[in-house]
Amino acid sequence: MSTFPEDDALAGEFAVPDDVQPVVDRVIAFIEEEVLPYEEAHADHVGGPLDYLDDDGLMKPETRAMQAEIRKRSADEGLYALHLPEEVGGGGLTNREHFYVQEAVFRYGTGHGSSVARAMMAWTEGPSPALLHLDEDQREEWLRPLVEGRETACIGITEPGAGSDVTAVSTTAERDGDGWVLNGDKRYITNGPFADTAQILATVEGAEGPPHETMGMFLVDTDNPGYEVGQPNLNIMMDGITSDVHLRDCRVDGDQLVGEVGDGLPLALSWVNWRRAGRAGMCAGMGRYLLDRMLTYAKDRETFGEPIGTNQAVQWPIVETATEIHAVREFGTALLGAYDAEANLHDLHQPTTARRKLSMLKYYPEDRLFDWADRAIQVLGGYGLMRAGGVERVFRVARNLRIPAGTTEIQKRTIAKTLGLE
Ligand SMILES: Cc1cc2nc3c(=O)[nH]c(=O)nc-3n(C[C@H](O)[C@H](O)[C@H](O)COP(=O)(O)OP(=O)(O)OC[C@H]3O[C@@H](n4cnc5c(N)ncnc54)[C@H](O)[C@@H]3O)c2cc1C
Repeated sequence: MSTFPEDDALAGEFAVPDDVQPVVDRVIAFIEEEVLPYEEAHADHVGGPLDYLDDDGLMKPETRAMQAEIRKRSADEGLYALHLPEEVGGGGLTNREHFYVQEAVFRYGTGHGSSVARAMMAWTEGPSPALLHLDEDQREEWLRPLVEGRETACIGITEPGAGSDVTAVSTTAERDGDGWVLNGDKRYITNGPFADTAQILATVEGAEGPPHETMGMFLVDTDNPGYEVGQPNLNIMMDGITSDVHLRDCRVDGDQLVGEVGDGLPLALSWVNWRRAGRAGMCAGMGRYLLDRMLTYAKDRETFGEPIGTNQAVQWPIVETATEIHAVREFGTALLGAYDAEANLHDLHQPTTARRKLSMLKYYPEDRLFDWADRAIQVLGGYGLMRAGGVERVFRVARNLRIPAGTTEIQKRTIAKTLGLE
């Protein structure tokens, strides 16, 4: 149904199941009809390579306002929170079905200016399945504004001294009458500077036992004077939305604890699992974007009087990428389908086999995407390294992906453990 890209030789092969096609069509139509014209009309804030950043390297208010507008329009269309159950205003898609939505968003929404198109789909800033553990009143206050795209969130797990080892978190939560007082330092917090709500993992003072029994997840209104945005974490993606966050005698009410004391670590992992489950569709989508660019360039660009695509040396990286995209699509949808059959992302107890699947779903597609992006740069030559070429940004994103939400090594460590290798 889409009018772009024009030359889509593999469209029939990269099929979408009939039951998911209607929602994928709506997503593509939204990008074509709402996002791209909107970006074009406001090109000043997304058009240039770094037009979306201010002097501190943070995203400009104008660009954030554009993201907010797209988020809101998408939520109004019922497209923003397709991953959540219908009972909380979500779209009720399974993880396997959501794969195809992610693929469409990242194929058609990548490379057009900043991340305005990506704002149409709940991401780190959106409503996580972990928040399904809120009771009715809490859901109304904290979850509904996220589902409706009116507000955004961030998650504070990582600290200067706690990354892969989440149990090393040293932020504390101390009882204070009916409420809690949080103190600590968080690092690399995506959307930390701009979120309305922060989900903070902390160790509860006085609680005894191993970390999975002593941690809590707390919701913090970022207007709270105890929530301080620290230095921007300028990174390889130049996303402009990542920073340190400090909690300084940050008092929250008793009902700002999600679930119970002891749920903190599994809730944090539930959030992380949501990100892991999304990686296959995301990588397939960006892979198809790269394949589109490679095919077009190889047919257009001439050297020695011939299109570069007539050379085997240029054909092979394209052929390998097309083949491996099939592999990631089949792998991703099969594993997500099997995951859906045995667990839910918000389950606080994930069966061993489910954890293994999520770790496989994270590291393998990311590994492939990194190679695809590297090949795309090579096929596009000097243009591939230019911002204007539209593929170097994917390379930087692909390199980043292998670290957050659990590094490649940590995924392999988890898989090894589930195979009895410890
Ligand atoms: C752009 C970006 C955005 C992020 N957003 C967020 C966010 O929104 N919220 C949040 O809480 N966190 C966020 N993070 C943090 C991210 O989750 C951590 O960076 C990640 O978990 C790794 O932790 P670390 O950087 O401390 O690395 P470390 O844990 O110090 O690891 C360093 C290296 O050692 C390896 N390693 C460590 N332990 C082992 C082991 N046992 N076996 C084998 N290898 C090991 C790692 O794989 C890695 O290669 C973000 C990070 C980035 C880069």
